[in-house]
Amino acid sequence: MADYIAELVEHIKAKNPAQPKFIQAVEEVLPTLKPVMDKHPEYRKAKILERITEPERVIIFRVPWEDDKGEYQVNRGFRIEMNSAIGPYKGGLRFHPTVDLGTLKFLAFEQVFKNALTTLPMGGGKGGSDFDPKGKSDAEVHRFCNSFMIELWRHIGHNTDVPAGDIGVGGREIGYLFGMYKRLKNEYTGVLTGKGINWGGSLIRPEATGYGAVYFAGEMLETRGETLEGKTCLVSASGNVAQYTVEKLLDLKAKPVTLSDSGGYIYDEGGIDRKKLKFVMELKNVRRGRIKEYASKYKSAVYTPIDPKLDYNPLWNHKADCAFPSATENEINKKDAQNLIKNGVYVVSEGANMPTTREGIDIFLAKKILYGPGKAANAGGVAVSGLEMTQNSLRYAWPREEVDRKLYEIMKNIHRVANETAAHYGVPGNYVAGANIAGFVKVADTMLDLGMYS
Ligand code: NDP
Repeated sequence: MADYIAELVEHIKAKNPAQPKFIQAVEEVLPTLKPVMDKHPEYRKAKILERITEPERVIIFRVPWEDDKGEYQVNRGFRIEMNSAIGPYKGGLRFHPTVDLGTLKFLAFEQVFKNALTTLPMGGGKGGSDFDPKGKSDAEVHRFCNSFMIELWRHIGHNTDVPAGDIGVGGREIGYLFGMYKRLKNEYTGVLTGKGINWGGSLIRPEATGYGAVYFAGEMLETRGETLEGKTCLVSASGNVAQYTVEKLLDLKAKPVTLSDSGGYIYDEGGIDRKKLKFVMELKNVRRGRIKEYASKYKSAVYTPIDPKLDYNPLWNHKADCAFPSATENEINKKDAQNLIKNGVYVVSEGANMPTTREGIDIFLAKKILYGPGKAANAGGVAVSGLEMTQNSLRYAWPREEVDRKLYEIMKNIHRVANETAAHYGVPGNYVAGANIAGFVKVADTMLDLGMYS
């Protein structure tokens, strides 16, 4: 079986040149599925691995728009409809200059397993554009979103494909996209999640990914009879996931000490408290400024700009107990992983998608720290998106406490299932294998039930 998987990985590499992140995700997942493939020859016979690594559909389109100077701009738009075995395609839209086909295929592939873990009926998808919202005026973002939806609307629907936000796509962008969809389709349905509360959004959706990553860390700690109280935590980024990670850490009496953006990071030894977090939220969500300003405002903090010459990220080189990578893929490399361990970190809960390289993961697993991979630890966002879809179908809104309780229960369940599955397949404590296998089995069994042509 190991040969079959290795050969298949080589085949996928040859078939998808210039998609290194997609290959990285496939290389991370497929080998961990060996024990389940050994046990279930029917999966191999039905070519489940070959099918699950091939998107059902890829849509690539031109997005022309006009900037404030009256000049025409052209970006590329994508939607990867990866797998709809267990429900409509579901996954975010990313607007970032690094977006390309391979990046979105990796995210869509991960999403298939993640969505299955939530227990909610959602298939996997992802989309976005190489458009960079940073430095653009509101009017430019509005025009871009309108143009993007003028093509995307014909491919999505509340029972077909339900996009959400991701990097560069927050409440503002979802609003513009939903407004255009509503007008084109003449229909008011839950076709997007992450909507505003007045127009079909769910309470706790903005908080869900960050809260969920913290709940997951709490569950991992509980296996050792510990809690987050008093733990020093390194958090990267300062976007949606990072902000609500910090908020929940404060609720649970932990001490977050770092935040960052693509310009650099701040280290606040005394801890980021609620007042400082409020400042960050206003800085990032309203003024759309840089994290550097934090250190000008709070003298307890030190700002370190990114040094492209370094082969490690100094943010991960501080004494701490826990780390919450919340920026982007491959932000923890081998050296960062070694630095984290050296500095006493023994809990890593990934808010971002694939933030740790293969070499970094190997170090975490070898050291047997509590390592929660993104597809399990950050599933809270899509889980509450699933709850938003349910509320839209019911035309009803649950109160904040109820959604938060459901989110907590889902994260607890994902942790339990990943932990039990890892133990069942002979790799106790390995949440990577546990999450991959548990997500895979649900989708694979459904693909068998639905037949080859589904
Ligand atoms: P936001 O756009 O709200 O914030 C992104 C943050 O990451 C910003 O602080 C940004 O800094 C930083 N960042 C992005 N790219 C880089 C980079 N190359 N180097 C350094 N910093 C970077 O995005 P989210 O918080 O929504 O998403 C963060 C991560 O969480 C992503 O990996 C996303 O896929 C994942 N995720 C998000 C979910 C959600 O519900 N939003 C759900 C599950 C996963 P700057 O502003 O300078 O670019």
